[in-house]
Amino acid sequence: MLCNVMEEITRETLNDLMTESYIGCTCELCQHDILAIALNRLPPQYSSTPTGELYVKARLFASQWRVDVVRELTYAMGIVTKTRRH
Ligand SMILES: [Zn+2]
Repeated sequence: MLCNVMEEITRETLNDLMTESYIGCTCELCQHDILAIALNRLPPQYSSTPTGELYVKARLFASQWRVDVVRELTYAMGIVTKTRRH
């Protein structure tokens, strides 16, 4: 199984941020717009580990990358709030 660990972390972090602080639209379209902007700005981190290990790895990397992920998600949420497509 090939997986972008950065994508997993970014999705999870977006969920947290949305419940904590995001005041814009939280529909799937907007979530995907936010993820696309943030993930294009973050370096992908591919891993070929099995699913169980993937989560261990994600936990490990999440602490290292969280500051960057939160920064890019905050930037992306700002753009999507201003340029909502619906
Ligand atoms: Zn929306």
